[in-house]
Amino acid sequence: MRVLNLAGVGDEIRQKGFLPDGVAWRKLDGTFIAGINNGSSNNGESQKDDPERMVALPLDRLGRILYNHSMKFPCIKYLFNHKVISIGQDENTAWVDVEVTGSSEATRFEADYIVGCDGANSIIRRSLFGDWEFPGRTWDEQIVATNVYYLFEKYNYWDSNFFIDPVHWHMAAKITKDGMWRVTYGEVPGLTRDELIARQPEKFKTILPGHPDPGGYKLVNISPYKVHQRLAESMRVGRFLLAADAAHLCNPFGGLGLTGGIVDVGGLYECLKGIYTGVADESILDIYSNIRRKRYLEIVDPISSDNLRRMFAIPPNEVLEKDEFLKLCKKCETDKDLQQKMAEGAHALNYDFTQHYNMSKSS
Ligand SMILES: Cc1cc2nc3c(=O)[nH]c(=O)nc-3n(C[C@H](O)[C@H](O)[C@H](O)COP(=O)(O)OP(=O)(O)OC[C@H]3O[C@@H](n4cnc5c(N)ncnc54)[C@H](O)[C@@H]3O)c2cc1C
Repeated sequence: MRVLNLAGVGDEIRQKGFLPDGVAWRKLDGTFIAGINNGSSNNGESQKDDPERMVALPLDRLGRILYNHSMKFPCIKYLFNHKVISIGQDENTAWVDVEVTGSSEATRFEADYIVGCDGANSIIRRSLFGDWEFPGRTWDEQIVATNVYYLFEKYNYWDSNFFIDPVHWHMAAKITKDGMWRVTYGEVPGLTRDELIARQPEKFKTILPGHPDPGGYKLVNISPYKVHQRLAESMRVGRFLLAADAAHLCNPFGGLGLTGGIVDVGGLYECLKGIYTGVADESILDIYSNIRRKRYLEIVDPISSDNLRRMFAIPPNEVLEKDEFLKLCKKCETDKDLQQKMAEGAHALNYDFTQHYNMSKSS
């Protein structure tokens, strides 16, 4: 939200989205284990009016806001149906060759710098490092993400809930004001997409409160997918930069995929603006790569990995004694200072690159 506020879209995002009340960890039967309350009730009132507080809004709606807002700037142009097929660079410039739908000839676009924001399969990253060079690992766990309308509120769910269970681990989080929820659950590895989709009604009957049959909820979307923890060797090669999924991947538990990408872009904006206005030299782009990779290695990768493992690795009856993070959450319930520190911890992904203005020129 810090980056999005600076971009001038914070108010609209808050207006179209909502402020989640908190996150709870539970046993499969719904028993509360521990939680972080963000302040719509009980103990977290201090965060209530914080403009940097987390907002929930589905990605397509966020994309629409960003698109409409950016259209106000004449220097921004969107070219849909343009597919980058190859890249190149020399001392003075960088270029991409682009296949345009409906045209048989590739078109070349040149620029001082090119940012590859082209997702997990990034052609920019593959051209820079090789098709299979994306260091990291793929989880054995099979994930199924669904969007569903169901009255979770009736069962006293908080807005985000993680369910700890060796087999039926899952997450249920409200994602729209009108009551659409994301339910993401673990499944047996090795099944086909069709098999996974066929098992969904039985799975919902087991894991959802009230054990509903398909007529009891409205399933809007279902996507089985595999998750990865991967980080590119560098986020800068000469005049090419990488940001977001093109540069790094993580599992979705904790929302660090999207937020990690947004802070990349906010940081890269500061670096490129510094170069453009003459207060920083090119070396600030190496700082960008080093800092963003460090944040991934120190924050995004370990926290998202713990968030996933926590749901199945320790038996639910023992998790409060054995899991350091849940111990901290429990402490927060009575310790206001610790609660404040945990809330501030959410900003640890950020980095102010303007501190390297001028300095990078002399170094
Ligand atoms: C099922 C699922 C659930 C997820 N849930 C969450 C979640 O709950 N929370 C969270 O934080 N993150 C989640 N993520 C991750 C999140 O969606 C991504 O981190 C985020 O979308 C990354 O944004 P991006 O712009 O880097 O890449 P993308 O959103 O993949 O966008 C890449 C863009 O580049 C374009 N492109 C690709 N190749 C080319 C080319 N050759 N030429 C031109 N354009 C190209 C694509 O068309 C696309 O528009 C989820 C991902 C999936 C798949």
